[in-house]
Amino acid sequence: MSNNCIFCSIIGNEISSTTIYEDAVVKVITDISPANKGHAIIIPKKHFKDIFEMDEDTASHIFTIASKISKAMKEALNCDGINILQNNGEAAGQTVFHFHMHVIPRYLDDTVTISWKTGSYSQGEAEKVAENIRNKM
Ligand code: 5GP
Ligand code: ZN
Repeated sequence: MSNNCIFCSIIGNEISSTTIYEDAVVKVITDISPANKGHAIIIPKKHFKDIFEMDEDTASHIFTIASKISKAMKEALNCDGINILQNNGEAAGQTVFHFHMHVIPRYLDDTVTISWKTGSYSQGEAEKVAENIRNKM
């Protein structure tokens, strides 16, 4: 529980929300400003600011639930696809600083945009970047 955290208040039922699913570790609610109807956010009950603070057991459980929610959403909403998004840090577009994972139903004719300008690597650069990351794991 963290003071002045909107998602802690939702977990504590001090702020109302529409629950899709709940267990001991997570609550899954509908996003208040959905990209498409049914847009869900998976919120761990414990306050973690972002993925950097989160333990791997909780992270694993959250992805298990993302998998279940995605399959249920596909059947229930008959959507054509699903985006799973999770923002960490202001630079990545995080606006609520209590970890959450978005599960967004998508339709071939919808107007949702999730995009970036593609870059490229020079010769051998990808291998160097990969090694640098691998060395920290
Ligand atoms: P972020 O940009 O941090 O990844 O996403 C935050 C998300 O939380 C946004 O999609 C926003 O609509 C949603 N959100 C913010 N406040 C509330 C709230 O009080 N209730 C619900 N259900 N969603 C919220
Ligand atoms: Zn919180």
